[in-house]
Amino acid sequence: MARYTGPSCRICRREGQKLYLKGDRCYSDKCALNRRQTAPGQHGAKKSKLSGYGTQLREKQKVKRYYGILETQFRSTYDRAEKMKGITGENLLQLLELRFDNVVYRLGFANSRKEARQFVTHGHFILNGRKADIPSMTLSVGDVIQLKDGSKSSDKFKVLAEAARTVPSWLEVNHEKMEGKLTALPVRDNIDLPIEEHLIVELYSR
Ligand code: SF4
Repeated sequence: MARYTGPSCRICRREGQKLYLKGDRCYSDKCALNRRQTAPGQHGAKKSKLSGYGTQLREKQKVKRYYGILETQFRSTYDRAEKMKGITGENLLQLLELRFDNVVYRLGFANSRKEARQFVTHGHFILNGRKADIPSMTLSVGDVIQLKDGSKSSDKFKVLAEAARTVPSWLEVNHEKMEGKLTALPVRDNIDLPIEEHLIVELYSR
């Protein structure tokens, strides 16, 4: 599946807010937004008032970028969310949170979603005891994610295990074993991102 390969900080500048795409760097003084807050490009410094459509579009772009996915995959996730029972915007966020790469990131097994995606495609993780290398897979309650034995000696994963990041309440983690479990479905209150998902629903309902 295609993915964005350009500079990450540029897209934070475009959205005018931190999207935390580069792991530790995002929490340091090196964050590009600390130095330059204007949008990228020749006319980036110009401030123009967004129309209703523009606001909805920017919100959708922001969410796509948080989760590192492109339009086709985002749209098909939205279509699935629309067919589910409940509130479409919340269903959409739930499906995005349940992506394999996002769960790896939320478990603290990667510093960013981008890195989590790379770890998954490189086959570092096992899902329910079996090989799984598709970042877009939707996980279910009860799924168990483990770091492959062959990857446990890697310094990168040792550092991540020692960092022992706090995980959301819908996940359970054993940092020592680098093993995690999905114990519940994420609900809107569990998703700590500044997203106005109703704007995306309004955009796609036009
Ligand atoms: Fe965004 Fe992180 Fe780059 Fe800062 S360092 S602009 S938060 S990707």
